[in-house]
Amino acid sequence: MTEVSVTKDAAPATDELVVLGGVNKHFGALHVLQDIDLTITRGEVVVVIGPSGSGKSTLCRTINRLETIDSGSITVDGKPLPQEGRELARLRADVGMVFQSFNLFAHKTVLQNVMLGQVKVRKTDKKAAEDRARQLLDRVGVGVQADKYPAQLSGGQQQRVAIARALAMDPKVMLFDEPTSALDPEMINEVLEVMQQLARDGMTMIVVTHEMGFARSAANRVVFMADGRIVEEATPEQFFSNPRSDRAKDFLSKIL
Ligand code: ADP
Ligand code: MG
Repeated sequence: MTEVSVTKDAAPATDELVVLGGVNKHFGALHVLQDIDLTITRGEVVVVIGPSGSGKSTLCRTINRLETIDSGSITVDGKPLPQEGRELARLRADVGMVFQSFNLFAHKTVLQNVMLGQVKVRKTDKKAAEDRARQLLDRVGVGVQADKYPAQLSGGQQQRVAIARALAMDPKVMLFDEPTSALDPEMINEVLEVMQQLARDGMTMIVVTHEMGFARSAANRVVFMADGRIVEEATPEQFFSNPRSDRAKDFLSKIL
């Protein structure tokens, strides 16, 4: 019997999961992303903060190609972003996204919302998709709501369903764009707790948020953006106790 040895050297050479290099994006005359270099490694939780209009949402949207870029490169798991078709649908499954507005399908039940992408994009059979959906709905604490419609749920519950729906695709990375900004205050924590648990479970996450408590406790790294640029990157400890740039100092003085 011949032994096939797979040494460590045969493993992927890099833990880099999302890599942006020299990314530029304009909306007309507005230079909304300016020379963005950003590398997210597997298992890392990166919190992106910055003033309104600084380009945070656009940055997220370029990573699953909801926006195209004018120059530079973006790779996910070593591959450039596909342009269209089935490959693009697969990219969007690999890069789960949770928005401020929950974006659930209003005319489908909670369970159907979490099953749909699995069946359509991942080609999972219905029984397996349903099992997985119920398991994820339990995990985010809305298992008993499975047969309701989104409008029958609170905002916090809907956002947890949206997280379950993204997770059902077995994403490589999850993007959260201000996931708690539209929620009533008493519902913010139930969503942040689900995100905290995901982070502890090792999910790679890019999170745009104004929740500084979450940033402090969950982030490996804080990226501060202003005027379309990454102005500062640091650990949460460094960033919150000793911001280097005037822009970050100014921003923190207004929100803390
Ligand atoms: P942030 O999420 O940090 O608040 P955005 O990425 O949403 O910032 O927006 C950055 C800038 O780009 C803002 O000035 C915004 O008005 C502008 N912008 C965003 N989307 C569009 C669009 N589709 N068309 C034109 N301008 C846009
Ligand atoms: Mg935004």
